[in-house]
Amino acid sequence: MREINVKLITEKVRDLCMEANTDLGEDVLWAFDQAMKSEESPLGVEILGELKENARIAKEEKVPICQDTGFAVVFVELGQDVHLTGGNLKEAIFEGVRQGYREGYLRKSICHPFTRANTGDNTPAIIHTDIVPGEKLRITVAPKGGGSENMSRVVMLTPSDGVEGIKRYVVGRVRESGSNPCPPTIVGIGIGGTFEQAALLAKKSLLRPLGSKNQDPELAKLESEILTEINKLGIGPQGLGGRTTSLAAHILMMPCHIASFPLAVNIQCHVHRHKETEI
Ligand code: SF4
Repeated sequence: MREINVKLITEKVRDLCMEANTDLGEDVLWAFDQAMKSEESPLGVEILGELKENARIAKEEKVPICQDTGFAVVFVELGQDVHLTGGNLKEAIFEGVRQGYREGYLRKSICHPFTRANTGDNTPAIIHTDIVPGEKLRITVAPKGGGSENMSRVVMLTPSDGVEGIKRYVVGRVRESGSNPCPPTIVGIGIGGTFEQAALLAKKSLLRPLGSKNQDPELAKLESEILTEINKLGIGPQGLGGRTTSLAAHILMMPCHIASFPLAVNIQCHVHRHKETEI
């Protein structure tokens, strides 16, 4: 049994909130470069260059990549042989989010749904916890912007819709979203499970590095087909036309009930932020 004081978790979450909001991953910058090579619209190429420049300035000057610094979504993989001391996990994460958003001068974007009164410190965070073997703790902070989250959907297809139904729905969702999710986007797709599990699969699929291949050949093929169809829509970077509407489509799938065919589409904007650490 290994003991971890929750104070360390607070410190790590604080740092990850600031890092994620100012330092876009190398895989995203690589994907911008790839898109610049294949983009046919001169304006699209110019915009992709500006997104790169924006990311460079954000990293160098430690300012947010976007004014919307997102809902703090936190994934925790907690080793079952870890004993947390000094407080509780949830409050430690909330405190890390409070400190990170305050010290990093990140916009606080969370409010009461009815009154719209701001909670003032960007809490609560959304925490997804998995208990895993071992005595380590892995924390991933993935701030999620409102514009792209608003374009996301969960739908209960019927089993007879099949794979073609998935393609039709996902591509249609991206088409209807237009410029709202700040393209080029990354399209997270969750298939199977239950209503809520499909949504979580879609969100988790976004954590896979851009440029990596799905381990399941059938899903890798489907991702490629969906991306090709999406990039025929002509929405382009920032919705101003071009072939780079999305940088990637990622799928996670699990078995579902014999009567169901859940599908979730979690659209992620070009500010594809997530940082992780292991304790
Ligand atoms: S959707 Fe993304 S890029 Fe657009 S405003 Fe929100 S965080 Fe920024």
